[in-house]
Amino acid sequence: MNTFPHGIHPPANKERSAQVPVSELPAPNIVRISLSQHLGKEALPVVAAGDYVKAGQKIGEADGLISAAVFSSVSGKVLAVEKRATVNGHANHVCIENDGKYEEITLPPLKDPKPEEIISRIAECGIVGMGGAGFPVAVKLNPREKIDSFIINAAECEPYLTCDYRIMLEYPREFLLGAQYMARSLGLSRFYIGIEDNKSDAVEILENAAKEAKIDVSIILCHTKYPQGAEKQLIYAVTKRKVRVGKLPSSVGVIVDNVHTAFSVYAAVEKGVPSYKRVLTVSGGGVKHPANFWVRTGTDIGEVLNACGGIDENAVKLIVGGPMMGFAQSDENATVTKTTSGILLLTAEEAAGEEASSCINCASCVKACPMRLMPVYIDGCILSGDVAGAEKYGAMNCIECGSCAYVCPAHRPLVQSIRLAKKKIREKGSVK
Ligand code: SF4
Ligand code: SF4
Repeated sequence: MNTFPHGIHPPANKERSAQVPVSELPAPNIVRISLSQHLGKEALPVVAAGDYVKAGQKIGEADGLISAAVFSSVSGKVLAVEKRATVNGHANHVCIENDGKYEEITLPPLKDPKPEEIISRIAECGIVGMGGAGFPVAVKLNPREKIDSFIINAAECEPYLTCDYRIMLEYPREFLLGAQYMARSLGLSRFYIGIEDNKSDAVEILENAAKEAKIDVSIILCHTKYPQGAEKQLIYAVTKRKVRVGKLPSSVGVIVDNVHTAFSVYAAVEKGVPSYKRVLTVSGGGVKHPANFWVRTGTDIGEVLNACGGIDENAVKLIVGGPMMGFAQSDENATVTKTTSGILLLTAEEAAGEEASSCINCASCVKACPMRLMPVYIDGCILSGDVAGAEKYGAMNCIECGSCAYVCPAHRPLVQSIRLAKKKIREKGSVK
């Protein structure tokens, strides 16, 4: 079976939402759309209070190469452009009063587009990696290196999340066409899908859809293991190529992107629709009615939870994203962005928030780390203020997957420790 060394096997907990078809969540009366929905510089507002906008109209211009345009998700009047909290910081938001008409602006569909036309359409539509990282896709599809393999990451290895799985079941043709456009933009006529072996029904549907649409794809079954969907781990599982420390996948001739991103590329190319809504999963033991919803960006997280029956009294932890790599929230005021793959409400049992105790030198964290790091040593260095030591032990190569913290019997906050190490190493100036 295709896989990578080390890793962990947390309970998948996908059964709550896996069989719930995707439905449309009505947009609220006011949407608050973040201008920082991507990696890189925040978009610059191009509308002001009092303007009338339509769904799909640009409200934020990309600020430089590593940035992305932002679009209105409803039609209505701009109320304000103001600084607000996001799930992991602060950013300007365009607040729009939804007039309920959903008047829309689209671009003309592209017919049989050339590679450069696909890339510029992806940039025009503000498409970013929708698995969580939010890297601008037009930049990713234009590497300096020669690329011979394009892989769709269909692992969806984070527990609870089922949005990519539902897209593959419900929109297989659209997803495959989007992936084919991405491969074509790289000069490739075929591509891979790396998918975990717990999604055999999706594999069958994709194989049939690919046959019908005459799409040349190789579906590679991978072992169900966390973090199978991490880029370097998936590349190894599918191609057996190793991406060296500090290098990008393009250094071994590979580009990876995720399922929802491919679907959005299809919508941009064939329908001219920019990126302003997405499928996300609402799940966890604290959610009364788990769901997979189409949600417009700028929708309050609290509105999404209300649509699922509100917050169960047993819920103790709110997470935006998956439980391993998502962001814990203290309130429900942040809004949905292009990268919001899930909203989870966990019970005390699921959240496993036990107090940290001293390390017992069991080496479980070392055995779990897919990057072959020694989290226990990095943690020790940071506790003793030894930033150079943390750097020597490879803190900068950590992908923050959380596997080490998950297995630690002493409940050491290893990921927070390594994040702190990275911050201090950057401040020291030896790494940019
Ligand atoms: S050290 Fe980083 S890469 Fe290794 S298991 Fe921990 S979080 Fe994952
Ligand atoms: S898993 Fe926890 S207790 Fe075991 S060595 Fe690592 S940090 Fe120490």
